[in-house]
Amino acid sequence: MMSDSIQTVTVLSKTTWTPTLFSFTVTRPDSFKFTAGQFVRLGVNPSQLKYYADLSAAEQESAVDEDIFRAYSIVSSPFDEVLEFFSIVIPDGAFTSQLQHLEVGDELLLNTMPFGFLTLARYQKPLPKDLWLLATGTGLAPFLSMLQDLKTWEDYDDIILAYSARTQDELAYVELIERLAEDFGSLVDNPAKFTFVPIVTRTQVEGMLNERLPKLLLDGTLQQHVGKALDPDSTHIMLCGNPDMVNDTKEALKSLGLTMNRRGEGNIAVENYW
Ligand code: NAP
Repeated sequence: MMSDSIQTVTVLSKTTWTPTLFSFTVTRPDSFKFTAGQFVRLGVNPSQLKYYADLSAAEQESAVDEDIFRAYSIVSSPFDEVLEFFSIVIPDGAFTSQLQHLEVGDELLLNTMPFGFLTLARYQKPLPKDLWLLATGTGLAPFLSMLQDLKTWEDYDDIILAYSARTQDELAYVELIERLAEDFGSLVDNPAKFTFVPIVTRTQVEGMLNERLPKLLLDGTLQQHVGKALDPDSTHIMLCGNPDMVNDTKEALKSLGLTMNRRGEGNIAVENYW
C-alpha cells in the first residue's frame, strides 16, 4: 500500500546537458511545500517507464520491478508550479541508470517529506552581508533553488556563486545563472550584487578559473577574482557537491578563520551531494 506521503508525479520535460548530465521537471502536488535548499526522495519503478516497452524480452526479464528511491535536491524555487531536478548518470547505478531513460509522460514517485538543513533559515538574524555559495557538479541544485527565491536577494548585499565542473560542457544552467541577477534583482528594491564564478578544472578556458576550490581559497585567487575578502564577521558560506570537495573546502575555510555554523551561529554550512 502506498504511504500518504508518497504521491505520483508526471515528467513534464527533460533537458540533456551531456551524455551523463540531465535535468527534468515533474508536476508538483498542490500540498507539497519545501524550503529552498531542501531534498526530497524520488522513486522510480524501471518496469513502469515507457522505454521498458522497447526492451527485448531478455532485458525486460532482468529489469528491476520494484520502486527504487534516491534523495534529490530541488532546483526549482519554492514558488514554482513544477519541480525540477538535476542528475548525473552513474554507470551501473541502480537509480540513475534507469532515470536517464525518462521520457515526458513517465510517472515517478515523490515522497513529500522534504529534508535537509542546507537552507538559509538555519542562520540566526541579523544576517551578515555576504553569501558565498560553492558548488561542484550536481551540487549546484540547492543553490539554484535559493537563487530563485526573492528573499535571498533581499537578505544579502553580495551573493557569490562559484561553480566547479571538470569541463565547460559540464557547467550546466549557465544561461539561467546569468539571467538570475536580472530577473530576480529587478523585483527587489535594493537587490544583492551577484557575482558568478564558473570554474573548470580539467581544461583551460579563457576567462575562467581552473583550479580546485580549496586551492583557489587558500591562495586567495577566488577572493581576488571576486574582489572581496572572506570576513568571519560578514560572511555566510555554503558548500554542496562532491564529498571530498566539501571536506577539503571546509578545512581550507577553517584555516582561514571561518567557523562551522551550529545552532544558527558561525559561517559554514555544508551538504554532501552523495
Ligand atoms: P566530480 O568528480 O565531482 O567533479 C566536479 C568538480 O568537483 C570538478 O571540478 C572536480 O575537480 C571537483 N572536485 C573533485 N574533488 C574535489 C576536491 N576534493 N576538492 C575540490 N574540488 C573537487 O564530478 P561529477 O561528474 O560531479 O561526479 C563524478 C563521479 O561522482 C560520478 O561519475 C559519480 O560516480 C559520482 N557521483 C555520484 C553521485 C551520487 O548521487 N551517488 C552524484 C554525483 C556524482 P577535478 O577535475 O580536479 O577532479
